Amino acid sequence: MFSERPDRLNGYIGTHVGAGAITPGEKSTSVIDRDATDAIFPGHPLVRITNTTHDVLIDLIYATPDNVAGQTIYQRPICLIHRDAVACLRRAVMRATEVGCRLKIFDAFRPQEAQVILWDTAPDKAYVADPRIGSNHTRGTAVDLTLADEAGQELDMGTAFDDMTSLSHHFCDKVPPLAQANRLLLMNIMESAGFRHIPHEWWHYALPEQDAYPLIASESLGTLNPMRGL
Ligand SMILES: [Zn+2]
Repeated sequence: MFSERPDRLNGYIGTHVGAGAITPGEKSTSVIDRDATDAIFPGHPLVRITNTTHDVLIDLIYATPDNVAGQTIYQRPICLIHRDAVACLRRAVMRATEVGCRLKIFDAFRPQEAQVILWDTAPDKAYVADPRIGSNHTRGTAVDLTLADEAGQELDMGTAFDDMTSLSHHFCDKVPPLAQANRLLLMNIMESAGFRHIPHEWWHYALPEQDAYPLIASESLGTLNPMRGL
């Protein structure tokens, strides 16, 4: 379900995505859309996501050298998503909580400079968006994540994050049944919250109609620029 809401703020015009059916008794999108902790920064549409403000676990893999590229891709572990995705994220957090789980985020907004490094170092470019086209992560509309239990222990998803093989594809029957079930649980949580999956990465979810969103230049982020310090 889409609800169009012209939203002009600081020169940025966005389209609110209120996807996902609201059941009786559930908070309406308008209530959870803009929390007091969803700080709006001038000049760009991104919202900073933290453990304390959004009740998620955050482990930004690309801010460490322990990732598929084998190097630190952005210097500062700042988790940002497009403000149109915040309501969906909050809904996903609620639904994960209902089944005794937490969301653990590996990557969200990804600067274009980081996308270039990932592209140049990717073992299989089928799993990385060509930076000449642009990644939905650079639009702020995509998030890479998994489920953890209440103690913070990651659920078994059958492969590690960024395993660029067919084992990472949804509905792959070569991973253990429990891992297949955990992937389906994550998909159910994220899709019912308004995100959409892609077939070949169990960890990647994004807003629908993401082509409507422009790429966001990291220079516009000021003090929130994850590339700062390079
Ligand atoms: Zn992704």
